[in-house]
Amino acid sequence: MKPRTIDKTNLPGPDFGHTPPGLISRSMQPFIRNNSAIRAMFEEGLRMQQEFGAENVFDFSLGNPNVPAPGAVEEAILRLVKDSDPVVLHGYMPNAGFPEVRRTLAEDLNRRFGTGFSEDNMIMTVGAACGLNILLKTILDPEDEVIVFTPYFMEYRAYVQNYGGLLREVPTLPETFLPDLEALRESLSSKTKAVIINTPNNPTGVVYGRKTLQQLSEVLLEAEERFGREILLISDEPYRELSYDGCEVPFVTEFYHNAVVCYSFSKSLSLPGERIGYLLIPDTVTGWKELFNGAVIANRISGFVNAPSLMQKAVAEVIGTDLTETVGYYDRNRRFLYEELSKLGFSCVYPEGAFYLWMKAPEPEADFVARCKKHCILVVPGSSFRGEGYVRIAYCVSHEKLQASIRAWKQIAEELFG
Ligand code: PLP
Repeated sequence: MKPRTIDKTNLPGPDFGHTPPGLISRSMQPFIRNNSAIRAMFEEGLRMQQEFGAENVFDFSLGNPNVPAPGAVEEAILRLVKDSDPVVLHGYMPNAGFPEVRRTLAEDLNRRFGTGFSEDNMIMTVGAACGLNILLKTILDPEDEVIVFTPYFMEYRAYVQNYGGLLREVPTLPETFLPDLEALRESLSSKTKAVIINTPNNPTGVVYGRKTLQQLSEVLLEAEERFGREILLISDEPYRELSYDGCEVPFVTEFYHNAVVCYSFSKSLSLPGERIGYLLIPDTVTGWKELFNGAVIANRISGFVNAPSLMQKAVAEVIGTDLTETVGYYDRNRRFLYEELSKLGFSCVYPEGAFYLWMKAPEPEADFVARCKKHCILVVPGSSFRGEGYVRIAYCVSHEKLQASIRAWKQIAEELFG
């Protein structure tokens, strides 16, 4: 028998930890390495809780909503389980999702934004993460470029790499963290397949207003003309419902013909573990029917198959539920944290949406993160979002926890500012 040749490049490097050699693909190896760093941070949080008591540790690192799902969600789930034919409720359905669910959600958008969508524009997805992945799988050829604005949700990098695409980072403007449109103009090329925006934004809390979307659209239209190809604008919107002070979150399809939306109920209805959202492909998108069909097939062959059936029906039942209480809770946290930290001398971006406070590190970022940790405060370094020199504080925690943390923030401020 001929000996099997071994591709030595596939063997793990010396810092590869405990993963068995040989089985892991080169593309996965860096993820496994990084994941142990994230796990180490998580375990460190648990260790700190044991050492200092859970009430003395302030973990602001996770974007996991602390407000429970509205009562209407639980009622809808119980009603559905009790009253539905279980074979239908728990069965397969078209890979795009139940048509009547998609129709209900499309009509809700039409009522709110004056649009004209139908079930034919909607694919139910396993959260926004799935929406982004099946879309990217449908459009990307190897080496196609996808533009993102720094700082950005780091998973975009992996999602684009999943399909052989290349991520191209474009800066936002200092202070406002709105897209630098001049830099965008220069970065667009014949290789650009898509641009991802995320508004309200994780990690900055910034919302893109009408003027920004209008100008962004003009830049993209001009580039489509210049390069003679379609450029898709992907609006990732898990935080759409979380905006404050009456700040409008304009609907992107009004501004650009090739715009699609990845929506999620993870944050608005506090259902991140249930994995439910949708991908909206308007018929203004060039070749929209093919794109729609492609994304439905990508949903199937990626192994998602379809979004969870019970959750599809539940969100359709509760769509339009009053979210004043949820938004009010985060708003109170937002104002409290921003005011308290500003009073202490920290410099933060005033968040218009989402549930993150983006704070300037008053010393080198890694030192500041370590100093916070010394005071039992866990925050995410800005470099995790390619936003060096900042930290992200997730304020989707109990208000009492926020209040209790102020003592530690005061000590940090005294050490830094005297
Ligand atoms: N996009 C952004 C900007 C996010 O912050 C998150 C989750 O935190 C997601 C996408 C993924 O959301 P989902 O839970 O719907 O997959």
